[in-house]
Amino acid sequence: MADANPFAAPVAGAALNPVPDAAISVWRDGDLLVMHKQAVLPDRCVKCNAPCNGYRLNRSLSWHPPGWFLLILISLWIYLIVALCIRKTAKIQVGLCEQHRSGRRKSIWGAWLMFLSSFVGIVLSIAFDLPLLAVLCLLLILGSLIWAVVISNVVKTHKIDDYYVWLKKINAEYLGTLPPIQG
Ligand SMILES: [Zn+2]
Repeated sequence: MADANPFAAPVAGAALNPVPDAAISVWRDGDLLVMHKQAVLPDRCVKCNAPCNGYRLNRSLSWHPPGWFLLILISLWIYLIVALCIRKTAKIQVGLCEQHRSGRRKSIWGAWLMFLSSFVGIVLSIAFDLPLLAVLCLLLILGSLIWAVVISNVVKTHKIDDYYVWLKKINAEYLGTLPPIQG
């Protein structure tokens, strides 16, 4: 009888099974990072591979197969209800270096400043009857919200199942230090 290897990486494309705690780990699969939901990521920045000195950013991830987005064409509410039922979630901790942390803080302040100044602009446009300024400020508010979403996406989720998370847009050097997935 062949011994099952409890430390084996999940096989790409195959159904993944829960692994014993000892096997909790992180791998690379092409340009994707594959990790067990409980895995501890390396103490390096996912953006540039620089040391993080222990700093971790908590990220709550959510994912569903992209085909379900088509439901939006039928009804946004039906989509939202279905998406809430079928989505897979994970809470992970991502390493970020001081430089990328500082850049992220500045971007958050920038998005807030853009949002608040646009809000003031709308109040002024109503007070002084300036419809063009109101339209411009509404566009800027929309822009600041999109900017905020982009900032919050430190990592992009490719896929989540019951046990594993696949991340994309990870620094190539960072990925290069991880063991390749089997298969
Ligand atoms: Zn960095």
